[in-house]
Amino acid sequence: MAQERKVTDLRALISDLPKDDRALADRIFDVSTTTGRLDPPEAMYAWIEKSFGSTNRVTAQRIVKVTNLITLEGTLFNELRASRPLDTGVSLDLDREIAATEGDPFCNPEAGTPADVFGRVQGEHATTASNVAKYDGFHGVIVFDDHNPLHLTPEKVAGYVSVGLEWGRQALETDPEARYPFLMWNCLWRAGGSIIHGHAQVTATRGSHYPKVERLRRAAAAYKAEHGSDYFEDLAHVHASLSLDIPLEGVRAFASLSPIKEKELVVIGDQPGDPSLSRAVGALLEGYVKDLGVRAFNVAFYMPPLGPTQEDWSDFPTVVYIVDRGDPANRTSDMGAMELYAASVVASDPFRVAEVLRDDLSS
Ligand SMILES: [Zn+2]
Repeated sequence: MAQERKVTDLRALISDLPKDDRALADRIFDVSTTTGRLDPPEAMYAWIEKSFGSTNRVTAQRIVKVTNLITLEGTLFNELRASRPLDTGVSLDLDREIAATEGDPFCNPEAGTPADVFGRVQGEHATTASNVAKYDGFHGVIVFDDHNPLHLTPEKVAGYVSVGLEWGRQALETDPEARYPFLMWNCLWRAGGSIIHGHAQVTATRGSHYPKVERLRRAAAAYKAEHGSDYFEDLAHVHASLSLDIPLEGVRAFASLSPIKEKELVVIGDQPGDPSLSRAVGALLEGYVKDLGVRAFNVAFYMPPLGPTQEDWSDFPTVVYIVDRGDPANRTSDMGAMELYAASVVASDPFRVAEVLRDDLSS
């Protein structure tokens, strides 16, 4: 049996790739490994052994720093943190807490929420509302029929996305300058969701895309100009060559080597409205909840604009990010100054995440 792949062995795993795959991995990622050491007093030994299994694992800790050289996103993985088992437990308290808020305004959106100036978009699993306190000139809420956001299926998620995209088209009809759409889902408090009832959000902005989307477009364009190949294809290829891909029909999906936070998945599809893309996102979210025990998560759709623009979006696919935001019962925030201003510090091993989801989705 092949030895278990670990992110802390990433340098060696890349070195073992066939020559062309290795060159591509080295073009996109810089990987460096360091050891953090400490010297605990004897009085701490018992606690360390209880918490981490052995003193040796704590006194010398392997840390891998992965930097995406194209986008300058980067992550620090610590072997000690990464080797902790993935917690997949289900909390009955959370289910009860979600059920206790049934009957909220989103359970009856026609009466409990405002409509947009162009009305509401109704779909099979959701209906839209206008957000009361707006992020941007156009800001809608995709209110799910389901109160419990974790009762999701690929079909329901495809329905939520198609309602959101139709909302974007109606916003564009209302204001032809509002051609840059953004679709997001903040599931539960830790992910920034203030209302429990299942909902995603959609905005449309003017002038230029949101800076992080525009930054990715520029990075991919510069990559193409320098190397003559497609950044997104190459990124997916590198992840697949390392067995981080999750095979799903019509998309390229993988567990990211430079995750912004825990268990980040990236899904690359063609058109935002492509049903295989939203179903793939739904299947991954279902695996997230069922197999990985995720409760609070963010989803973000990077999409090209809906109308003609000065800048070139012709090579830009639809890129979807999915990230776990941690246990709802945990009071410590999962993000601190490192994530906001330096690099992300991540505990989950992308090789484990890909393995769990691949096993589930291929069965
Ligand atoms: Zn509700």
